[in-house]
Amino acid sequence: MATLQALDAAQEVLARDEQYLIPVYARYPVVMDRGEGCTLFDLAGKSYLDMMGGLGVNALGHAHPRMVQTMVEQAGRLVHLSPQYSNPYPSLLAERLCELAGMHGAFFSTGGSEAVEGALKLARTVGRQVGGAQKHAIVALKGSYHGRTFGSMGVTGQEKYSADFGPGLPGVRFVERNDVEALRSAVGEDTCAILLEPVLGEGGVLFCSVEFLSEARRLADAFGALLIFDEIQCGLGRVGSWFAFERVGVRPDMLILGKPLGGGLPLSALLVGEKLFHRYGLGKHGSTLGGTPLACRLGLEFLAVMEEERVLENVAAAGERMRLGLAQVAARFPDLVVEVRGAGLMWALELREPARPVVEEGLRRGVLFNVVQGKVLRFLPPLILAPDQVGRGLGVLEEVLGDLFGGAMSEHPVGAQMHAVAR
Ligand SMILES: *Cc1c(COP(=O)(O)O)cnc(C)c1O
Repeated sequence: MATLQALDAAQEVLARDEQYLIPVYARYPVVMDRGEGCTLFDLAGKSYLDMMGGLGVNALGHAHPRMVQTMVEQAGRLVHLSPQYSNPYPSLLAERLCELAGMHGAFFSTGGSEAVEGALKLARTVGRQVGGAQKHAIVALKGSYHGRTFGSMGVTGQEKYSADFGPGLPGVRFVERNDVEALRSAVGEDTCAILLEPVLGEGGVLFCSVEFLSEARRLADAFGALLIFDEIQCGLGRVGSWFAFERVGVRPDMLILGKPLGGGLPLSALLVGEKLFHRYGLGKHGSTLGGTPLACRLGLEFLAVMEEERVLENVAAAGERMRLGLAQVAARFPDLVVEVRGAGLMWALELREPARPVVEEGLRRGVLFNVVQGKVLRFLPPLILAPDQVGRGLGVLEEVLGDLFGGAMSEHPVGAQMHAVAR
């Protein structure tokens, strides 16, 4: 068996990881070697169906031929360039994103957190311009996730991420998602921005209601504050439309994109409307590694593939299969499943029990699952996941749940536990 050697090689990697990588990730005991489409392969060649898509980054799966070709071609031409010099790709990508989102301009940075920082800085400077230094308060949501840097952590509404690092960002107020009254009391003359994820991702795939988002828009306008949507996770096709805000018809003043944008290379974007285009001021913001020729060209290719290969149509078809399949799982395990919720290819199966063992057992059986908030299985598969692959993944999930928690068939009708959001 070649696998003994491969096992040794994997053990060696895991041991070196443990010795040299600062331990902040609760990693799983597997070493990946390569990927193709919606499948990953470990060092021993064992295959894994990818139901988590690199936390939503690998929208086109792994090693998509067009992305590989573009990467190779551009890597031999120009990888990085000082942002003080021009090349064709950043503005081409900005133009395309603005067309899709109905925005006016873009600033590119590396990761999601960095783009959130850029949005917070722009909100603060605009607040100052229109209302003086006291117009600096930011309203954000409890249970939200915006990143790991100081500013983005400061607007993340989960104590566990920031408690050990205080003091944090001053002037942030957190309100409960979908609590319109709480939102009304939190927003005032001193508010410079309301920041939210239309669909909270890391929080467990939780949807903001149309009413809540509309009220956020109204309050932002009434108090001269900016409405910022963080669509790093729910944007760019994830929920079946290009952007989550299109589903509810509420437009933001700033839109933050990340995760899949660079086709796996670090790339995030802050998109703004016309009235914000000139508001930073020259020299007031920047990013040495943000928006490189290589990343932006891959971003363009990602958008082109999405369109030319009609990926959104697949999101609809595979998403419907997810909805039906998860409803079936919920019906089979009524005592285990709290709720199923999602749209497109962004789904959650909330359990009453810790979900990490499900991920570990899935790994053994060749399917990659993901857990957030301890008990929520979150699905962010590649947007090219075929409907029959959905069936395969959820079949393994059902087996795993049966083995771990007991698989008694329920008397409940199929769909009894279903609260899927399908607006
Ligand atoms: C992942 C994520 C971020 C942070 O992005 P990084 O690239 O990890 O810095 C911010 N907001 C949302 C909604 C996210 O899902």
